[in-house]
Amino acid sequence: MRIIHISAECYPVAKVGGLADVVGALPKYQNKVGANSSVIMPFYNNKFTRAKKFESIYHSKVKLGSHELNFDILKIEDSVLDFDIFFVHIEALLYTEEVYVDNDADRFLAFQIAALDWILTLKEKPNIIHCHDHHTGLTPFMVQECFKYKPLSSIPVVFTIHNAQYQGWMAYNNLYKLPMFNIENVGLLLWDGMINPLASAIKCAWRITTVSPSYMEELKYKANGLESLLMHEQSKAVGILNGIDADVWNPETDTYLIKNYKKSTVESGKKANKEWLCKQFNLDKSKPLFAFIGRLVGEKGADLLPNALDYALRANNISVLVLGSGFKETENRLFGLIPQYDGNYNAYIGYDEKLSHLIYAGADFLLMPSRVEPCGLNQMYSLRYGTVPIVRRIGGLKDTVVDIGDDGFGICHNDVSVQDIINAIHRATDFYNSQNEFKANRKKIMTIDHSWELSAQTYINLYKSIN
Ligand code: ADP
Repeated sequence: MRIIHISAECYPVAKVGGLADVVGALPKYQNKVGANSSVIMPFYNNKFTRAKKFESIYHSKVKLGSHELNFDILKIEDSVLDFDIFFVHIEALLYTEEVYVDNDADRFLAFQIAALDWILTLKEKPNIIHCHDHHTGLTPFMVQECFKYKPLSSIPVVFTIHNAQYQGWMAYNNLYKLPMFNIENVGLLLWDGMINPLASAIKCAWRITTVSPSYMEELKYKANGLESLLMHEQSKAVGILNGIDADVWNPETDTYLIKNYKKSTVESGKKANKEWLCKQFNLDKSKPLFAFIGRLVGEKGADLLPNALDYALRANNISVLVLGSGFKETENRLFGLIPQYDGNYNAYIGYDEKLSHLIYAGADFLLMPSRVEPCGLNQMYSLRYGTVPIVRRIGGLKDTVVDIGDDGFGICHNDVSVQDIINAIHRATDFYNSQNEFKANRKKIMTIDHSWELSAQTYINLYKSIN
């Protein structure tokens, strides 16, 4: 079975968040179960692309209305990835340092048209086109409706919602930029009077998936305006929990760590990584270390962290380390706490892949007070590294973390509030102080299996059901 994933992000090429981790792992695990799975993504001007050599395997022009742009399809020379990856190179639009900039509507429309133009030329067409998030949300419509893609229209298109908050809205007057289609069907592109790529994908894809079962249910009641649409289309929708790439996220082999460890050596391994972190960030290594890693945005509940941490640091004997970037005000407030709690608190404002691995390894607890969490990968990474997740019961967090009070292994809270975060930290500190129980739990959580094998197979079964 030939599968082409179309995505704006893919680890290790370009990563902003969990989308990249998923698209960088799912094809690899699909190939392990006998599929021929590949990825097509934009060619950005970033560290990864600057360090590699590429060859052009196709050249043509992409049209946005009457505006024509040159594009190439590139392949990496000597790729070491476990799946084929192709790049749409449109110098004028896509070749940016950042994945997301300000004219994303045009950028990702051109990307999708160029990708489909190239797929049209393939002798061996894919059996499945799998699109991810709103950046590729117009593809299901174009495959089904645009005259020039008629030869592709029998290929089932699957669309995964990684995050329904962002929908890629475009003003109606951008319609002319799409390849020709029967205008009577324009409604398939629209929601509330705008072109809405996410809504269009929900209408046109053969199957919709979300990245956890709970998120699928939650979207029927809270989907940034698309609730009724999701309710209406629920018969073709299913939630499939993401996995983690257990090769990349493995404390036994992770090259970013100061000391590697496995279940039997977790105590000494975590100690060495914690000591390194505490030294680097001027933290007290004798105290339980709480960490937060992620985008500093409302979805992650990051705006509540400054007040919650301020109180928790005064009330408990703890250390805290934050890694993230996002809203300036939250960044400033989290950074501003450093002098007040010098020696017990620090924050690294920015993105640092290596540091994130070291924190998963060295922290005792990982905070995830999310308002919205379609799946969440951090909690699964933290489990694998023996770090206890503290999560709000929402979306994928609800599907993957069970509270210690319910014979589980994590700390869960119901609300996104300063008080709930404080209470959770308080419970975690008590748990940490019961060292025997705490240490036994560390070993237990490291064995929880969230690897991709099962989910990759579930996707293949879904593809087979529509082929
Ligand atoms: P989302 O995609 O909503 O941001 P996920 O939990 O699905 O959230 O994935 C987040 C991914 O991004 C994880 O791999 C996490 O480690 C990583 N990440 C987030 N912020 C940072 C950061 N500042 N530095 C390093 N890695 C980060």
